[in-house]
Amino acid sequence: MASEQPMVEGVELSGKVALVTGAGSGIGRAAALRLASAGASVGLLGRSEDELQQVAEAIRGRAGSASVLCADVGDFSAVQAATERLYSEFGRLDVVFANAGVNGVWAPIHELQPKEWEETLRINLSGTFYTLKSAAAYLKERGGSIIVCASVNGTRMFSNTGATAYAASKAGQVAMAKMLAVELARDKVRVNVICPGGISTDIDDNTDARDLENIKPRVEFPDGKIPLTGGKPGTPEQVAELVLFLASDRSSHLSGTEIWIDGAQSLLQG
Ligand code: NAD
Repeated sequence: MASEQPMVEGVELSGKVALVTGAGSGIGRAAALRLASAGASVGLLGRSEDELQQVAEAIRGRAGSASVLCADVGDFSAVQAATERLYSEFGRLDVVFANAGVNGVWAPIHELQPKEWEETLRINLSGTFYTLKSAAAYLKERGGSIIVCASVNGTRMFSNTGATAYAASKAGQVAMAKMLAVELARDKVRVNVICPGGISTDIDDNTDARDLENIKPRVEFPDGKIPLTGGKPGTPEQVAELVLFLASDRSSHLSGTEIWIDGAQSLLQG
């Protein structure tokens, strides 16, 4: 399990309310803990109640405030009901981290089934849309910050052949975020995208990679595909620091942009 952030004096997000999707593990969990340690009350949305309860307990154990919201992000009514519940509990919404996602099936196009394509797009792309659609009216009341978790795949890296549905879902998230950055600017809602490279989480458990050997490009990368670390992946906590920056007023003039957090991996391994 990832190391816990020390509880710090909650100042930056004190009195604010954040919704984090996919908050039960990996990047979402680290971000939820980090936002809570900066003073935010956090709505933990995901589909594994046990995991969410554990994160909620960790937050409450450090004098933070959290609410468990069980929902499948690909089910609009469930996401809408969860977001409404969070709003009625805390009376406001300031930050949304749309992070829930799966790798899904990675396979050659002749093998990738329409149902598999649809499931990845349902969770990653429609799930992001449902989250932001459910939250937008609340965010517009006072202004706020949306952070979408995309990936290097589909934005700056295209060499993971077979990840067609995943990369398309991630590229779609970037377009959605940029459209909304313009639409929501008049209401002082900022919208940004983070694009992580290799981060050590359990996302591989949600990956079904099939028969990729024959479609992989024959490219030899230098040892250590992540230049900054010599190949070592980043940590969820490093990503959480970026989420906190984008959630807080420290990034008050940033909107409509993507930020790659990958130790320069995608510049080498495009
Ligand atoms: P993870 O598997 O630990 O986290 C994903 C979370 O999303 C899990 O808690 C899972 O339960 C939840 N989730 C999945 N489908 C859901 C659904 N339908 N409804 C509600 N919740 C759902 O993996 P992670 O690496 O922390 O992934 C988080 C995000 O980061 C994903 O969007 C992923 O694409 C992105 N990302 C990860 C990496 C990496 O290397 N780990 C790199 C780039 C982008």
